[in-house]
Amino acid sequence: MLDLTEDQSAFRDDVRTFVAEEIRPNAIELDQTETYPADILAELGDRRLTGLTIPEAYGGMGEGHLELVVLIEELSTALMSVSSSLALHLGVAGVIEQFGTDDQRETYLPEMATFDTVGALGLSEAGAGANKLEMETTATREGDEWVLEGHKQWVTNYFDADCVLTYAKTGPDEEAPHNISAFLVPAEEFEVEENWGTLGAWSVKSPRVRLDNVRVDDAARVGAVGEAYVQRGTLHNGVNLPARGVGIARAALEDTVAYLQEREQYQQPVGDFQGVRWAVGEMAERVETARFHTYRAATKADAGEDVTKEFAMAKLNASEAAIENANDAIRFLGGRGYTTEHHVERYLRDAQLLTIAGGPNDVHRNTLADAVFEEYSDRET
Ligand SMILES: Cc1cc2nc3c(=O)[nH]c(=O)nc-3n(C[C@H](O)[C@H](O)[C@H](O)COP(=O)(O)OP(=O)(O)OC[C@H]3O[C@@H](n4cnc5c(N)ncnc54)[C@H](O)[C@@H]3O)c2cc1C
Repeated sequence: MLDLTEDQSAFRDDVRTFVAEEIRPNAIELDQTETYPADILAELGDRRLTGLTIPEAYGGMGEGHLELVVLIEELSTALMSVSSSLALHLGVAGVIEQFGTDDQRETYLPEMATFDTVGALGLSEAGAGANKLEMETTATREGDEWVLEGHKQWVTNYFDADCVLTYAKTGPDEEAPHNISAFLVPAEEFEVEENWGTLGAWSVKSPRVRLDNVRVDDAARVGAVGEAYVQRGTLHNGVNLPARGVGIARAALEDTVAYLQEREQYQQPVGDFQGVRWAVGEMAERVETARFHTYRAATKADAGEDVTKEFAMAKLNASEAAIENANDAIRFLGGRGYTTEHHVERYLRDAQLLTIAGGPNDVHRNTLADAVFEEYSDRET
């Protein structure tokens, strides 16, 4: 059930070669200079990988969630900012594809497939973190237009985005969650309020932006009035988050093994010390367990099955595997692992985001616990 087909393996190998040749050699510099990986994303666009999950009818590759996690894992082994940027973009495309009008699909998706139009997501706010229903941004209907007022707290891709899929309240709180609608708002309509300095993910910025009396036509609304939040919950692009964790955890393992074969202390390779060897075995176990959970969530999503429990397990397992492996990589590379000569210090900084973005891990712990109690509720003591 969880093995890749020949085609999927060939796809993974192609991406792996591209990542090794084009991304990894530039990753430290892009990160340290906080440079948006525009050339890399443009190249991914030329290869249509920025349209991986966009239907072929709109110029994409028409692939599913399993191919998405394969792609995201590979990109994340080199530079998570590339995979974050692409994943957010494809998430916006997915909403347009599923809930947009024919006009919206024809206008946006072909250019999104090649990354000539870049999407960003405006969902979270200062007061709407774990609970997005507490958002304050409103959209008020005036004739054929909507007037948007409010802010969005973290908008990944914003500085290179053409449109921000913006969620806003269009109904009273008593109607929640059926009181939120989504709009495609041109990026230039926002005003940047804060461009945060962050612990990691330095190559793609996620600023806080404001909407002041911004008017969009009703044709910019994506999905039914009041139903955007609920509709969003039926999509599974979120599997990209654990896939990013798998990629970082694997890169940390690979860098560790490569280094340990070279490094000698006490007249022997450090990789020959038994304590070190056991820890490296555990690093590999984390990668493969995290990948198992991630593939399982993606495969079930592709089969149209409920993935509530599987997604929570994948998110928790993979994000924590990434942090633990990054920590171990720094430990085994010693002082060198603490420097920016090596990639491993970046893995730790970037991996921390995966416990927060896409909903905090503690909230996923709640979801997992609810699913488990429900699953086993008929057991007798
Ligand atoms: C770099 C970066 C990029 C981002 N990009 C985007 C983007 O492109 N678009 C977008 O819309 N959003 C984006 N986000 C927002 C991200 O999704 C939110 O940060 C996330 O949902 C958590 O919200 P919060 O940070 O406000 O944390 P809070 O909601 O304040 O939660 C903080 C902590 O409180 C605890 N907690 C909260 N609720 C519960 C609970 N029910 N049970 C137990 N514990 C709980 C947890 O420990 C949690 O970690 C980004 C965030 C960052 C940092």
